[in-house]
Amino acid sequence: MQQFDIVIVGAGTAGIPAAIEAVQTGANVLLIEQSDRIGGTLHVSAGQMSAAGTELQRARGIADSVAAHVQEAIRISRNTCDVSLVEKAAALAAPTFDWLMGMGFDPAGLAETIAAYNTALADGAPDPLGRQHRPAAVATAPLRAIRMHGIILKTPAGLAIDTELRVLNTEGKPIPNLYTIGEAMGGAALSGNAFVGGMSVTPALSFGRWIGQTLGHRHTKAAA
Ligand SMILES: Cc1cc2nc3c(=O)[nH]c(=O)nc-3n(C[C@H](O)[C@H](O)[C@H](O)COP(=O)(O)OP(=O)(O)OC[C@H]3O[C@@H](n4cnc5c(N)ncnc54)[C@H](O)[C@@H]3O)c2cc1C
Repeated sequence: MQQFDIVIVGAGTAGIPAAIEAVQTGANVLLIEQSDRIGGTLHVSAGQMSAAGTELQRARGIADSVAAHVQEAIRISRNTCDVSLVEKAAALAAPTFDWLMGMGFDPAGLAETIAAYNTALADGAPDPLGRQHRPAAVATAPLRAIRMHGIILKTPAGLAIDTELRVLNTEGKPIPNLYTIGEAMGGAALSGNAFVGGMSVTPALSFGRWIGQTLGHRHTKAAA
């Protein structure tokens, strides 16, 4: 029977970066996906990401900090978020954002996507993502708003975890070798009783990268 150092369930926002980082440490990784395509919620996400102190901000002379990011999450959630996890998410956010930017941005691809979206909308053609309600056409700049519709965006409840992202049992003790990140950790950990914008995609990516690196290095060190 084939053995793996790390098993990741779900090739979505969190699972893919976790697998990328873990493989780069030399660990033997199994990534399991139930769907016939990878990407998970990233296919429908609005893509709002929060990160403070990014290279893009620095290049534009915008002064921002991890501490300010944390304070903003605490303020919006009226101090109901898990501050330790928010601190970890905020500290990892800028490196994750810079990592994504380093992968390159394709302006021609964006223009192509917008043109295809507008054409499909004008022709009444079905949406490739299966959406029944679509925002208005992306037309003349400057663009200020799009029409939005009610959707299930997030679930606040999730598995209890500590700052090592280990799943805790009912006594608050870590369950050996079980970790969770992304939606499964519940939105309330980082947003409390409120909704802190952009604090789902970035932490899913960041925690994915962190857990992949951390567990990957642990396994490759143990195997050495
Ligand atoms: C419409 C929409 C817009 C959003 N916009 C934003 C936004 O702008 N900014 C923001 O921060 N957050 C946003 N969110 C929330 C954010 O996208 C999610 O919190 C985040 O993407 C979750 O990442 P994840 O890896 O946990 O889940 P996913 O990316 O959904 O990945 C989970 C994967 O696991 C697979 N899977 C599930 N069960 C199993 C199983 N038993 N076995 C194998 N595979 C399984 C799924 O098929 C999926 O591929 C939005 C959410 C929605 C729905």
